[in-house]
Amino acid sequence: MAKPKKRYKKHPGLLLSELEKVTSPCTNCGADNSIDWLNEMRFPHEAIEPHGGGGRWVPISVPVQCKICESHYHHKIPVLERESTWHLYGDEAWRIIEDKGKRIHFFCITLVALHNSRQEELNLKLRKFKLEARPELAPEEWPHHFTEIWSDSGAKRKFALSGLKEKIQYGERLAKMIAGLSPEIVCYNISSATILKGTRKEIAATIKLQKEQIFKEALLITLDSMRQNKKGVVWHFDNVKDSTTREVTEGWAMECFLGLQYTPLFTYLAGGTYIPEPEFMKPGSHPLLEIADFISFCVARDFMKIFEGKLGEVPSARLGKINCYRTNVDGQPDAAYEMASFFLMRYFLP
Ligand SMILES: [Zn+2]
Repeated sequence: MAKPKKRYKKHPGLLLSELEKVTSPCTNCGADNSIDWLNEMRFPHEAIEPHGGGGRWVPISVPVQCKICESHYHHKIPVLERESTWHLYGDEAWRIIEDKGKRIHFFCITLVALHNSRQEELNLKLRKFKLEARPELAPEEWPHHFTEIWSDSGAKRKFALSGLKEKIQYGERLAKMIAGLSPEIVCYNISSATILKGTRKEIAATIKLQKEQIFKEALLITLDSMRQNKKGVVWHFDNVKDSTTREVTEGWAMECFLGLQYTPLFTYLAGGTYIPEPEFMKPGSHPLLEIADFISFCVARDFMKIFEGKLGEVPSARLGKINCYRTNVDGQPDAAYEMASFFLMRYFLP
């Protein structure tokens, strides 16, 4: 009996310009065929574990049908070297701004990886921060979500940071600590802003689509970047309950990943390396998830403040340069390795 097809979501309209020029000679008649990299294949890119164990078979070709003789053949993709595998930890943030009666939803995902040589240092330093914020609790017992610290006030205050000034100083020192992990820390921020209109239902659908789009872009962008640097990649995400879909992230996010596996683009980007399914973790259960949460907070707050002609109280520029990506209104990708505070200003250029 055939394996039931897992539910999956379609790929985003993301394509690398280097691939537009690639043609594939037909193995039967020699005619040059173009490849539809975002075409949905009949079978997903999935590594197969041989029954005897010992590694995995990884697809290194994509199916093509010749436009002249109509024969089906496989086009080989370039196999990239892999020196090591990096673990990327991701978390998201969002803000809504109102501009001349228009409501704009900003959404971003931050992914961070840290070289092994600095992991222990980060663990110790973050522990100290957590002890300062909540001296009465063991640092391992609570997830560091900066939004909670930021909005903590009143008689039922949980954190030891008494006022806005203390919170800002805490945030500034945390940002400096993160910037100090450079160059062993790698950080990506993928964002977009979309106009919300229509009924509540339509708005929820718009936000859901935006999040799925950014999630898929985040996977493809980091996969491409890591593979170009001869790294394999494993993704880890905070498995939070999603306010838009009322389900944990794992549900819709896994469907996005499975959808990407149906595109020749994914096979191309993987470059012959086994790319496992993303892992969804208990919120805040790894220091780098807490770092990704903090960076996303700074970037999203910066976006809101830049719209008001200011900068966030803890500007994301304090984190140092990061890999910033966004999609223009015309659908073209825009990327730069720079301070996120400055990159975000591109959203507001005429
Ligand atoms: Zn042919």
